[in-house]
Amino acid sequence: MAQTFDVVVIGSGPAGYIGAIRAAQLGLKTACVEEWKTPGGKHALGGTCLNVGCIPSKALLESSEQYEHTLKGLGSHGISVSGVKVDLPKMLSRKDSIVSKMTGGIEFLFRKNKITWLKGHGRFAGKGAQGWSIEVAGGSSTETIEAKWVIVASGSSARHLPGIDVDNVRICDNIGALAFDEVPKRLGVIGAGVIGLELGSVWRRLGSQVTVLEALPGFLAAADESISKEAWKIFTGEQGLDIRLGAKIGKVTAGKKGVTVEYEHEGTAGKLECDRLIISVGRIPNTGNLGAEAVGLKIDGRGFIEVDDHCRTNLPNVFAVGDVVRGPMLAHKGEEEGVMVAELIAGQKSHVDYSAIPWVIYTSPEIAWVGKTEQALKVEGVPYKVGQFPFAINGRALGHGNTHGFVKMLAHAKTDEILGVHIINTHASELIAEAVVAMEFHAASEDIARIVHAHPSLSEVMHEAALAVDKRALNM
Ligand code: FAD
Ligand code: NAD
Repeated sequence: MAQTFDVVVIGSGPAGYIGAIRAAQLGLKTACVEEWKTPGGKHALGGTCLNVGCIPSKALLESSEQYEHTLKGLGSHGISVSGVKVDLPKMLSRKDSIVSKMTGGIEFLFRKNKITWLKGHGRFAGKGAQGWSIEVAGGSSTETIEAKWVIVASGSSARHLPGIDVDNVRICDNIGALAFDEVPKRLGVIGAGVIGLELGSVWRRLGSQVTVLEALPGFLAAADESISKEAWKIFTGEQGLDIRLGAKIGKVTAGKKGVTVEYEHEGTAGKLECDRLIISVGRIPNTGNLGAEAVGLKIDGRGFIEVDDHCRTNLPNVFAVGDVVRGPMLAHKGEEEGVMVAELIAGQKSHVDYSAIPWVIYTSPEIAWVGKTEQALKVEGVPYKVGQFPFAINGRALGHGNTHGFVKMLAHAKTDEILGVHIINTHASELIAEAVVAMEFHAASEDIARIVHAHPSLSEVMHEAALAVDKRALNM
């Protein structure tokens, strides 16, 4: 007899494991199929985010930031240091232990919520008496289980470029780039998106000379233009990142000593010689070998599972969430979709507000935003007002020594409702939360302007930006 469940989740990344936990909390008998194995061959939960994404990258960003700050940032505080060195194996093992702690934490949560972890590859095998049949192919055996409801949360993988072999030693995607065994002298990066900038920053801070080749003529096109301009100035100026926009990649050759990238830039042929190369040109949804054809699950032309606003697929009782469906490839977007779908299955009303999803890029300074950019409002013809305030004149930022950047608030010219908030500053990832809450509650800029913000704190810059919308910033 096949094992039967109310809900089977395929994939245990942030979208899948959170969906499974919420389903179990709501009293549904839940299983999660996960095939991930660590380089040591151990089965692991957590998906891209915990194993080779958000968590390890943020651990290395923090370690490399501490190193650079010790070298360059302490002098201005009157602290001199000498003999500062990087112990890369120790730094990597710190990152690895954070990853194991987090993935082990999900195993604990699965046990606590009585979620069955089915180790292996899951795919649709048709319909059985109890609902959908899912075949789980583990290491040595294959079993078929049945579930009334299925949540596909199979995530995404790095997109590779045709003709370039990623061996994750010399030519790497995110997996190899989080585990270099030495700091490369010369690092090449293809793609100046989020991963290119974050991982490029890690290795630059540790001593690599970094060259980034970007196909598009513009820089960070998804961000507000004033933020991209400020980031460009800082990254390419004082930080010395060499970013070449409008580059057309040609032949890439890997040898024993390094990698040669031939490319065209501003009409001339260029050659980049580097010790390691990171390819970070976006990610593709994992929809191959899901058995989608067997059951008629609709996949769009770009490989994403087609869903409506509530993550319903074209098949009855089958939902899909996270990176495998439309929308930003962000862990927190997937998590909220997981919660929504579990609640819908349990018969509750639930939704995700896609208009208030925060974005964070963990460079130094960090970049964070929520809502519309100024350029989008112009295109849409929405009348707006702008309030902007710099960190350079905020007492707390001066105390920190992190005075880069500003908060920019966009509000509707007539109603004053906040339409977007854009931050570039070392602590942007934390500061953006206030703006997300404000937008969820359809707050006006005046609401933020009238709220008491602690002094001295970086949050005062948000307060002043809100006051500036009405041209009444107090400290400028
Ligand atoms: P995934 O995390 O990709 O998980 C999918 C899981 O499904 C995997 O474990 C896979 O093994 C499993 N699976 C797939 N198919 C099957 C199958 N058929 N059977 C069994 N198992 C299967 N996002 C942020 O919000 N903040 C960040 O700071 C951030 N940093 C990132 C840094 C890097 C380097 C990368 C690569 C990504 C980062 N992201 C970040 C993006 C984030 O990791 C993804 O948006 C998130 O992991 C998507 O979650 P998911 O659950 O949809 O899929
Ligand atoms: P991305 O979409 O952020 O950037 C890819 C970049 O590569 C783009 O600028 C694109 O123009 C460029 N590109 C594409 N093809 C190219 C080519 N042939 N030659 C040169 N450049 C080329 O993708 P990513 O950096 O790979 O990250 C993937 C996803 O992971 C992101 O979309 C993001 O959602 C997620 N992520 C999020 C975070 C975060 O939230 N902090 C961090 C890392 C990754």
